[in-house]
Amino acid sequence: MKRAFVLLLCGLFVGCSGSLKPTEETAGVTVNSATPDQEAAAHTRPLRLFIFDCGRIRFESVAGFGLSETDTAIRELAAPCYIIDHPKGQLLWDAGLPSDLAKSSGWISRGDGVDVALDKTLAQQLEEMDLGFDLDSLEFTAFSHIHWDHVGAANDVSSSYWLVQQGDYKAFLDPIGTSVPAIDPTLLVAMAERPTRVLTGDHDVFGDGRVKLISAYGHTPGHQVLYVDLADYGPVVLSGDLYHFPVSRTNRVVPLFNVDKPATLAAMDRVEALVSESDADFWIQHDLAHFLSQQKAPEFYQ
Ligand SMILES: [Zn+2]
Repeated sequence: MKRAFVLLLCGLFVGCSGSLKPTEETAGVTVNSATPDQEAAAHTRPLRLFIFDCGRIRFESVAGFGLSETDTAIRELAAPCYIIDHPKGQLLWDAGLPSDLAKSSGWISRGDGVDVALDKTLAQQLEEMDLGFDLDSLEFTAFSHIHWDHVGAANDVSSSYWLVQQGDYKAFLDPIGTSVPAIDPTLLVAMAERPTRVLTGDHDVFGDGRVKLISAYGHTPGHQVLYVDLADYGPVVLSGDLYHFPVSRTNRVVPLFNVDKPATLAAMDRVEALVSESDADFWIQHDLAHFLSQQKAPEFYQ
């Protein structure tokens, strides 16, 4: 049984605008300069998960997703960004549509049967909300994968380690040679400046088991999902593009543009096993109806 949904406004939460900042990095382990009491308090402080609207995508056909046109009536997707606020810093998980789209209002045609819209950049949203962190103070950045609709605010990030799976990192270094579709290198320019940890499997982001990157290759060579163990809400899996539609999950449908179909199916099995074992809530990130039902920043899940 799912734990009770708990929602708190930022202003009601002590410590909302401040967190212990790391002062030293040792072999990939973040070390705080806090006192033992502060350390203990920080360790038990609940995680907070913020959801941001980072754009919409709409299209005429779902054929590219491996579906027939009658499998689903959905033709519009959400493109959220998420920030996990941990006592040791913040993790940005996915960065939505390209920030430049916010310079225009309404839908913009990409010319390939896909329209996109972005009301406000993630940086603008964070500035207005004044949550105590922004894209200049993040500890970590990770994308589910490096497709253009998941890295759109990457060039606005001026802090943090980039946590990337090896397959996507190779595609980042050589997008033409690796022929991974839907990569726009101009959106990833700033990532070349970030200190980078190239991963070859699952990774415990803060070292306490509460925020974990789970490798789920196949959509791209370095696709991953995020497991977050929230104290009150319970565990949740943010599934990147493992599925784009609920029917894709029900029927185990692999998009035509995935780089590796068997790996995708294996990733589905692996992630679904994790969901069953942990009784985690499962979020299909592009599921617009689900996204609309969720609480957005400055409210949060914890
Ligand atoms: Zn996507």
